[in-house]
Amino acid sequence: CRADRSGERLVSETPELLIASLYPRDMNIYGDRGNVLSLARRVRAQGFAPRVVDVNPGDPLPDEIDIVIGGGGQDSGQNRVAKDLAQRADSIRALAADGTPMLMVCGLYQLFGHRFVTHTGDELVGIGVLDVETRGGAERMIGNIVLDSEEFGEIIGYENHSGDTTLGSGSRPLGKVKQGAGNNPRDGVEGARSGNVIGTYLHGSLLPKNPALSDFLIGEAATRRYGSFTPIAGANETVLLARESAKRRPR
Ligand code: GLN
Repeated sequence: CRADRSGERLVSETPELLIASLYPRDMNIYGDRGNVLSLARRVRAQGFAPRVVDVNPGDPLPDEIDIVIGGGGQDSGQNRVAKDLAQRADSIRALAADGTPMLMVCGLYQLFGHRFVTHTGDELVGIGVLDVETRGGAERMIGNIVLDSEEFGEIIGYENHSGDTTLGSGSRPLGKVKQGAGNNPRDGVEGARSGNVIGTYLHGSLLPKNPALSDFLIGEAATRRYGSFTPIAGANETVLLARESAKRRPR
């Protein structure tokens, strides 16, 4: 993309990035929808036109997906979406294998693993994009959580889950736990990474508090679709808000 002298990409040739929002009706807890809003805003700040397509059970997957994002929910919500997700497993696995960046929080993090066995013993089969397994336990892990990530620095959020997740050798953690529980109370790590797919228990919403994660998703998506990505210097919420309110001001 070309940039004018102010560093903004030219509006007339604004390239699009398509964000597929997975199951916003059933999997949207503790402000996870805020991740979609925040990501779309940051996509705009980086000079792209965001197009958000909601994908609820039965809806078609859009053709050209640049980023996939999904949130958490209760076991009952996971039950409602698990069968639909299984039917899309091949398409989502193919996107992941092709490098499509994805962020899955809590309930969908669990279903992007191999399986989630609930505390009542029901097994929800996952799509295995992440090499993790989850078992529902008696103890809930609740509270503010802080991670230390080599790639993203400090990550902050809020966790509330009874699912106890273990990592296989095909995924690495998102970060080390500095405060809170994370995947389980034993291992001292949180989340999972496989290729460009991130799974995590962090709600809060996550992305407004941790813009480095949004920039990772946008950078990978833009590079995959347009061949390169040069971040716009100062493309942060404050700059964007100031620009928008300046535009609204009567002249
Ligand atoms: N039902 C899952 C658990 O408690 C997911 C919870 C969530 O998405 N916050 O482990």
